[in-house]
Amino acid sequence: MSAPITPDNLTVPRKEPAGKPSLIGLSRDAMREALIGMGTPEKQAKMRVGQIWHWLYFRGVTDFGLMTNLSKGFRAELAEVFTLARPEIVTKQVSKDGTRKYLLRIAGGHEVEVVYIPEKNRGTLCVSSQVGCTLTCSFCHTGTQKLVRNLTAGEIVGQILVARDDLNEWENTPFDKRLLSNIVFMGMGEPLYNFDNVRDAIKIAMDPEGISISRRRITLSTSGVVPEIAKTGDEIGCLLAISFHATTDEVRNTLVPINKRWNIDALLDALRNYPRLSNSERITFEYVMLKGVNDSDEDARRLVELIAGIPAKINLIPFNPWPGSPYERSDWKRIEAFGDIVNAAGYASPVRRPRGEDIMAACGQLKSDTERARKSRKQIAEEAGL
Ligand code: SAH
Ligand code: SF4
Repeated sequence: MSAPITPDNLTVPRKEPAGKPSLIGLSRDAMREALIGMGTPEKQAKMRVGQIWHWLYFRGVTDFGLMTNLSKGFRAELAEVFTLARPEIVTKQVSKDGTRKYLLRIAGGHEVEVVYIPEKNRGTLCVSSQVGCTLTCSFCHTGTQKLVRNLTAGEIVGQILVARDDLNEWENTPFDKRLLSNIVFMGMGEPLYNFDNVRDAIKIAMDPEGISISRRRITLSTSGVVPEIAKTGDEIGCLLAISFHATTDEVRNTLVPINKRWNIDALLDALRNYPRLSNSERITFEYVMLKGVNDSDEDARRLVELIAGIPAKINLIPFNPWPGSPYERSDWKRIEAFGDIVNAAGYASPVRRPRGEDIMAACGQLKSDTERARKSRKQIAEEAGL
């Protein structure tokens, strides 16, 4: 064993040049293959993966030089072939309610937003899965930005790493003291249109020898990509939230255009068959409250009829406006009346308190500036086959 490396005797460069693949985001198997590919004997590869995993995801180091239980030579070889780069923080804004919004730059100069929401007994990180979105939900700011690209698994995990860096939360924080305890895929993009990368990233976040956030503390929100829903249960096992938002196909077609491809019936069928459905793992129905559009008593009654038999809770989301948005938020009285009907039918119906509104960090307000020449909504919908 070589002597431990301290910042004074680092032999590997602190910053790797661009263009190398990142170790961050590789599954354990993929990392093992990568190590074998660079000459690590097969017999040792599994152990090396365990060691590197610990440094990356338990200690949060950003420098191969600090991986002190690896030989100097091996560290230098790793640094020749791989990078440990995280997304770069372009700006960080802190809301008066403590919500933090980071604008991150990823490869290609693209930008995504990630939001940290502190609560009393937990802290939730709202991560993005795509730059922009192919879908064009009419109440969503991200929906006005065309899809630029999918995020890689490394870029999705990278959002968690950057937040933990900023919260100074590495190593042994006991779970009940963790500032970042929950993850929701409710940032930019449709996670089920980037399934493999989202799955790989979640698996890394759940790994008990690293970030170690349990699958019950990770929620994936989808607008309703029906064919991927069962896969989400089988291959990821996280909790599911559905952007439901309307109780007739007519209205849902206008709010969530993916409904033209998979309508309310098809979506509910998929949910009834969700592999992990149970009373302790209920599906969250997200319902954005739009004044005069979807917020009547009749809507509330239809909603509970539609979802009958599905273990569920209804999350009422007061609409968050953005510049040029075509809707208004329902009045509080209306939201309460709607919630009362849902409640009386036996469903919890918490109202999601808007967080970070003063920094445009609330649900549906995220949008980065890497927008390309804007296509018409019609063009985008046609390309997405809607
Ligand atoms: N694409 C995924 C996840 C990102 S959106 C999805 O659609 O589910 C996260 C949540 O914010 C969704 O329920 C979405 O419908 C909701 N949302 C979008 N725009 C909003 C807005 N302006 N006000 C309130 N909620 C909004
Ligand atoms: Fe995309 Fe979700 Fe926004 Fe719809 S609500 S445009 S699916 S990010």
